[in-house]
Amino acid sequence: MGKVYFIISAYNEESNVQALVKELYSEFQRINFDQYELIFVNDGSTDATLEGLIEVQKNFKNIVIINQTKNFGHEMAMTAGLNYVATEHHQEKKYAVLFMDADLQHPPALAMKMIQLWQEGKKLVLTQRVNNEDTGIRYKVLGNTYYWILNMISDVKIPRNMPDFRLLDKKYVQWIHQLNENDRMFRGMLSLVGLKEAHIIDFVAPKRLSGTSKYNFLKLYKLAIDSVIQFSIKPLRFATIIGILGCILSFLFLGYSIYNSITSHEPKTGFLTLLTVMIFFCSLILLFLGVLGEYIGRIHIEVKKRPLYFNEIIKNEEN
Ligand code: UDP
Ligand code: MG
Repeated sequence: MGKVYFIISAYNEESNVQALVKELYSEFQRINFDQYELIFVNDGSTDATLEGLIEVQKNFKNIVIINQTKNFGHEMAMTAGLNYVATEHHQEKKYAVLFMDADLQHPPALAMKMIQLWQEGKKLVLTQRVNNEDTGIRYKVLGNTYYWILNMISDVKIPRNMPDFRLLDKKYVQWIHQLNENDRMFRGMLSLVGLKEAHIIDFVAPKRLSGTSKYNFLKLYKLAIDSVIQFSIKPLRFATIIGILGCILSFLFLGYSIYNSITSHEPKTGFLTLLTVMIFFCSLILLFLGVLGEYIGRIHIEVKKRPLYFNEIIKNEEN
């Protein structure tokens, strides 16, 4: 039959984990399924999430906790879970990994449906959010622009509105496991592997049970920059093209001013024009130095080949 490993990343979700486990277990009973293991990744929570998880682990079976030493971010937490399953269970012939959030925005009932689809032979089940009850207009506008820009400049198409709620068959787990780069984004990595086999189901995401979204502006900004730079070198090419255009433009401008000074006899200092042109090109240079810096910075981090994260595995030996 094959097991399903749930990978649930939790960062300051003390008030949600217990409710989530309860709901999941009642769903397991409903569909009469017992081939599961819940792998919680505690992503350096500063509240009592870990204590809560240990408590839950005492009362329910098949729960493993991966305790990250600090907050490495959601993508890393998912990676830690995936790598754990890929190495720990590599002899198992058949298994699947199911990613979900800890805040009950990913309905457990839908997870059961994903399991059933997998048992029917689907190898990759993705979800698409048709409407998120939790998001305001600001978030929507931000999200739309984000994906628009992203797909315009990135080489790998990143699907829109695809939350981190998905089921991967063993073969996909092994493929993703091979990608060992520092900058990671699951959406992009899946596109890299290929999405031909994907089966997509729609769902309406409910409000998070309690607490607030853990993605602040800075984290979103980092995700946006990451996802462009990680999957594309277009910004570098863009810099070259702008540079060439700028050169042509400044030559034209030079020609025009020479022509102007010959034909017109009024005294002109041209100071303001000079200033404008200078500021424009200086800021362009700074901008593209920044772009270059982003890439070089990543190379710098990548060549060190440091471990992506540090953690401890907490198991309950009794059950
Ligand atoms: N999360 C995490 N590490 C982080 C930020 C978030 O593990 O640094 C987890 C969080 O606990 C939740 C999931 O990732 O289970 C999604 O986060 P959140 O609900 O804040 O994002 P949103 O649903 O608002 O996009
Ligand atoms: Mg959420």
